[in-house]
Amino acid sequence: MSISSHLKNIQHKIKSHSPYHEVRLIGVSKYHNENKLKEAYQAGIRNFGESYLQEALTKISALSDFKDIVWHFIGPIQSKKSKQIAENFDWVQSVSREKVALKLNNSRPQNLNPLNVLVQVNISNDSEKSGLSIEEAEALALKITNLQRLRLRGIMCIPANYENDLQIANDFNKMKQFYDHLQSRFKHVDTLSMGMSQDFTLAIEQGSNMVRIGSSLFGKRY
Ligand SMILES: *Cc1c(COP(=O)(O)O)cnc(C)c1O
Repeated sequence: MSISSHLKNIQHKIKSHSPYHEVRLIGVSKYHNENKLKEAYQAGIRNFGESYLQEALTKISALSDFKDIVWHFIGPIQSKKSKQIAENFDWVQSVSREKVALKLNNSRPQNLNPLNVLVQVNISNDSEKSGLSIEEAEALALKITNLQRLRLRGIMCIPANYENDLQIANDFNKMKQFYDHLQSRFKHVDTLSMGMSQDFTLAIEQGSNMVRIGSSLFGKRY
């Protein structure tokens, strides 16, 4: 099936699980080449998520004529790579260290809008996953709101690989409660990024308003 028909399926599922709120779809294009991204663009995708900087930079430059693409960095961040991330992306969803936040802030070019930032939360306390506890995430969120070149927009998570839906839903619900709290405390917070190919309908039912979809949209990676 084509990306376009995958997209229609996904959009239909998003709509039927979110009758009362808007959900933003991020096409996670890691491992896929620029032709696939162009196909996704033609199908209507405008937000792309990338996890690996060098790979992403090649595609950002190949698609530089498509001015309305919004690029999201969603992968682990080495602090020495922060400058290039701040120069080339619109959003960074995987911020979990103050050192990285400071570097992103210092290297965000003045001619660009403040960099949109999500703090990554390790909601399942999974030692295999990066991200902060809720308490640590709130402390970092506060620091980010004091940085002029960053704009705190919300939080992101990747839950553990649970066997059953109840456990995932429970973690998503904890994220939603934390998100509501942050929203009441900080003014620009409007984004709860949770849900991937396997669990996005569950995430939306729990209040997600941004889903990051890779394999269900682009097909399997080899
Ligand atoms: C790869 C990736 C996704 C997409 O995963 P799929 O299961 O392929 O939809 C979403 N978020 C992050 C952070 C990723 O690294």
